[in-house]
Amino acid sequence: MAQVSCSFCGRKKSEVDLLLSGIDAHICNHCIAQGHQVVTEELGPKEDKKEKKSKLPKLKPIPPAEIKHFLEQYVIGQDEAKRSLAVAVYNHYKRLNQAATEDDVVIEKSNIIMVGETGTGKTYLAKSIARILQVPFCVADATVVTEAGYVGEDVETILTRLLQAADYNVEAAERGIVYIDEIDKIARKSDNPSITRDVSGEGVQQALLKLLEGSIVNVPPQGGRKHPDQKMISLNTENILFICGGAFDGIERHIGKRINTRPIGFNGDNRIIEIFDKGNLMRYVTAMDLKSFGLIPELIGRLPVLTHLNPLDRETLRRILTEPKNALVRQYSKLFAMEGITLHFEDAVLDYIVDQAMIYKLGARGLRAICESIMTDAMFDLPSQKEVKEFTLSLDYAKDKFEKSSMALLRSVA
Ligand code: ADP
Repeated sequence: MAQVSCSFCGRKKSEVDLLLSGIDAHICNHCIAQGHQVVTEELGPKEDKKEKKSKLPKLKPIPPAEIKHFLEQYVIGQDEAKRSLAVAVYNHYKRLNQAATEDDVVIEKSNIIMVGETGTGKTYLAKSIARILQVPFCVADATVVTEAGYVGEDVETILTRLLQAADYNVEAAERGIVYIDEIDKIARKSDNPSITRDVSGEGVQQALLKLLEGSIVNVPPQGGRKHPDQKMISLNTENILFICGGAFDGIERHIGKRINTRPIGFNGDNRIIEIFDKGNLMRYVTAMDLKSFGLIPELIGRLPVLTHLNPLDRETLRRILTEPKNALVRQYSKLFAMEGITLHFEDAVLDYIVDQAMIYKLGARGLRAICESIMTDAMFDLPSQKEVKEFTLSLDYAKDKFEKSSMALLRSVA
């Protein structure tokens, strides 16, 4: 009698450890193991999902005006960016709710790209919006990722953060929001596709496409480089909203060039540029400028909402010091109040801080550094002086402390 063999791989019974028999087929231990692996890879997370689905809270879309109003408590100015973000988040919720209804019209996701100088509030906007979101949110940095196979992290690690934010609930992460910072740093290094590999630029952009367009991505649960022995979690990015932000240093040149293109032959006609706000060319940023800057068209196409942040002027910086819910002045007042000390800022001190921030061109980020250099001595001494119940920050005191600080010293050396 012929020896029975595995109906899948053909191995004879004598060649395997185990051969299971079905109605009229057999399967060996090798094929069972392989089959098991395929099943867990394909269905593992989805089986989990079915159980978790009912546990997810139902989303209540928050109207854009309400989102914007909320953002106003934290972020000063940047009206246009707030509106775009609010609408995008609202539509994201609507999209998530539509998934349940059977319809021919499918609302596509509207990933966002925010362009604005460093320190104008891009990350802060994204973080502030996360406070009212009912979906997982994470901030990732585009500069740490490189093309697969090179030193750095895989793009999939961006989603590791989202998974962590969702407590590894795959279903919840799949409807989350990801903010990718410093997207401009992965711009193509030269205008032409390079002959040498551009592993941290164009290569990463290509890899990002896969995440942005909506596909099943294998995510390493602990981040880092993927390696063969690691257990991966599959995540469907179809419903994940991506918000990208970048300073795009020097993009004004591209914008200026584009809007100032004069018809050949009309020499010296500068009128076109005059109708534009030359001080803030960022207002006129378009997808074309992003392309000239070095983003690939496929990536730009997947970030259909383009918005900008305005440079912070003196008045805005002044407001940032005092108005937001966690404004620096309020933070210091709270720190002092915890010592039982009432803190007063003279108006002139606030103007002085703003002046220095303008000089150092550090945007709102500079405000904190300047405040720290002024306040450190007081924060060091006062806790041991129990009799002090009030402290007024005068202009002379602020000037004295700041001019002696390393920040000011560095500047005088430079
Ligand atoms: P970037 O645009 O480089 O991402 P950030 O969002 O990190 O800048 O801003 C740095 C800090 O400056 C924030 O943490 C925030 O405290 C402050 N800031 C910046 N812009 C604003 C703003 N428009 N309103 C209030 N605070 C701001």
